[in-house]
Amino acid sequence: MQDHIEQLTKLFLKFPGIGARQAKRFAYFILSQQDSYVKSLSASLLSAKASAQTCVKCFRVFEGSSPQTSGVCYLCSDEKREKDKVLVVEKTSDIDVFLKTDYNGEFFVLGSLIPITQKSIIDGTNTKPLLERIKNDTNLKEIILAFPLTPNGDHTDFVLREMIGGNIKISSLGRGLSTGTELEYADPASLEASLKKRE
Ligand SMILES: [Zn+2]
Repeated sequence: MQDHIEQLTKLFLKFPGIGARQAKRFAYFILSQQDSYVKSLSASLLSAKASAQTCVKCFRVFEGSSPQTSGVCYLCSDEKREKDKVLVVEKTSDIDVFLKTDYNGEFFVLGSLIPITQKSIIDGTNTKPLLERIKNDTNLKEIILAFPLTPNGDHTDFVLREMIGGNIKISSLGRGLSTGTELEYADPASLEASLKKRE
């Protein structure tokens, strides 16, 4: 017989920041709920996934059809955003907090940090499309690297600076943020201050 609790636990373990105990707790929670709750949860998961797509320009995940049906999200299609700078983050959820600041440039989602154990291997990240965009987008004047102040965040900053090279201005968030903080949990005011102090 298949062990459904074990299987559910494994699925929850893939969630960011979730350990084995929490994953098992979630599995038991699901199994103790009414059928109606479990049905609406699974229907919501499927419909959210079906309506989500990844922007072909900035790689953020967004919902609904793109304005130009070209696979480009509404942020990338927004003519009012400044086209001369792009802010590079680890994941889509990091962008949300920057949308609450006065930053009005473009974004790019790297998809994953480059682990400190890897010197320059960039598989599993969107580094190649980022380098292509920097090479081909003549409007771009500045790349802002916005990674968490963690060993992997610092390493990603270092590797990308090496790879991007010296033909364009590269800045990183000012040191106003606390060490170890995930950007998505940072408060907009601190991020804004840290953007102003970028170097
Ligand atoms: Zn986009």
